[in-house]
Amino acid sequence: MSRRPVIAGNWKMHNLQKEAIELTNGIMQELKSEEKSTLPEVIVAPTFTSLYVVNKAINDCGCGKVKLAAQNCYFETKGAFTGECSVEMLKDTGCEYIIIGHSERREYFGETDEMVNKKAKAILLNGLIPIICCGESLEQREAGVTDYHISSQITKALRDLTSEEVSKSIIAYEPIWAIGTGKTCDSVEANRVIAMIRNVVRKLYDTTTADSIRILYGGSVKPGTIKEQMAQSDIDGALVGGASLTADSFVQIVKGAVACGV
Ligand code: PEP
Repeated sequence: MSRRPVIAGNWKMHNLQKEAIELTNGIMQELKSEEKSTLPEVIVAPTFTSLYVVNKAINDCGCGKVKLAAQNCYFETKGAFTGECSVEMLKDTGCEYIIIGHSERREYFGETDEMVNKKAKAILLNGLIPIICCGESLEQREAGVTDYHISSQITKALRDLTSEEVSKSIIAYEPIWAIGTGKTCDSVEANRVIAMIRNVVRKLYDTTTADSIRILYGGSVKPGTIKEQMAQSDIDGALVGGASLTADSFVQIVKGAVACGV
């Protein structure tokens, strides 16, 4: 079963609108000579305040090589939820994907597995694709509960979703100790955990669903690590933080994935 690779850039709380436009245009410029059909799905996730201008830059280019994601959403459709954005609002700005359950949202903003599940449902209901993050802390890894913890996160995140919905979703395995630390998880170990996640999906659903869902690795991915990561059997791409903040390093990662036979 061949799954189309995904390289997604999570810009976190970086870039004013002007910088976000420049970065988007820089990425598209560097991808100009690449044949679209050979590219992975390339996604950028700016902050809420830059979604509109980044979407405009993508549409103005018209190359169709870069897609838009939001970094978060709220699961309610509308109402008195000060400071939140509904999925419909994000869809209205051109988003096709929404990252949910990122460890920074879980740690600093109290996002729970139950909220991740509600967000996944709202995203899918609106025809968008959730990028569902999971991952263990260093303490959990050292205590030997990595697989248990991640199985639990995934089982709760997918609760009541249909196999069709799960098949089109994306999961990002991001060991917390590897995020923003420069310490990349060993590729063989990342692949083992990702294969374990695929097995959880197989048990909850079926082999077709498990073979369809894209599962990315995230955690200090760099141009120098992507080829080895993409060469693994179960790693379908990368969620990239720091290295997505310059067009040059992000596009090197995209091209690294191409070189692995996208
Ligand atoms: C992330 O924020 O999802 C991430 C993986 O960050 P970094 O690549 O900087 O580790």
